[in-house]
Amino acid sequence: MLFDTHAHYDDARFDEDRDALLSSMPAHNVGLILNPGCDVETSRKAVSYAQKYPFIYAAVGIHPENIDENWNNDLAVIKEMAQRETKVRAIGEIGLDYYWEKEERARSRQQVVFRRQMELARELHLPVIVHDREAHGDCMEITRQFPEVRGVYHCYAGSVEMARELLRLGYYLSFTGVITFKNARKAIEVIREAPLDRLMIETDAPYMAPEPYRGRRNSSLYVHRMAETIAAVKGVDAAEVERVTMENGKRLFAIS
Ligand SMILES: [Zn+2]
Repeated sequence: MLFDTHAHYDDARFDEDRDALLSSMPAHNVGLILNPGCDVETSRKAVSYAQKYPFIYAAVGIHPENIDENWNNDLAVIKEMAQRETKVRAIGEIGLDYYWEKEERARSRQQVVFRRQMELARELHLPVIVHDREAHGDCMEITRQFPEVRGVYHCYAGSVEMARELLRLGYYLSFTGVITFKNARKAIEVIREAPLDRLMIETDAPYMAPEPYRGRRNSSLYVHRMAETIAAVKGVDAAEVERVTMENGKRLFAIS
């Protein structure tokens, strides 16, 4: 069974068939799904899916693109959810996004909110799910400031050198459909170098559908493509990648 460690079923693109689609997952060999939140509302939805489906787990957090004036109050709500809900297994997704945010003051605020959520993860003994878009240097600096915290860099897009440091810090690297695209050279190099027992697979649904489904609405039904791609790079069976990435996800998110 496959573990899609990052999918956003709160997205409106699933409004028409969410229940039918999620109910069909076990029959399609998808055994576990982790739905991260990006703000209070989507974190609540993630928790509600986790309550409804035994194979869904949740993360709660404030995404760097979703920070507004209320972030301090929102963080209190996130903390309360993380403490109360047993199926919340991570703080995420959190991090920095300099692709969408060019303004220096707003970037500083992203750093403050990222740090506060790293503190929360440390306090609650939860792993983190990190979103790092064109902010590698600052993401690493904050990650280094919390040596007690473990987690995953989702949709990993950094260098081989950065991957080595993250692995030393105890982090996992997770890969989306991007690795099935022709121009994915850098990510493929990282996959070749990193040990299989530190890799995870994800769809980031509804975004970034893998080849040959590119352009369509993505869902966990396509997560097998990431296992197949990693298997080809590593020269092992897809079944082996399926098994090991399932174990990795269960270990990081404390799922028995
Ligand atoms: Zn995401």
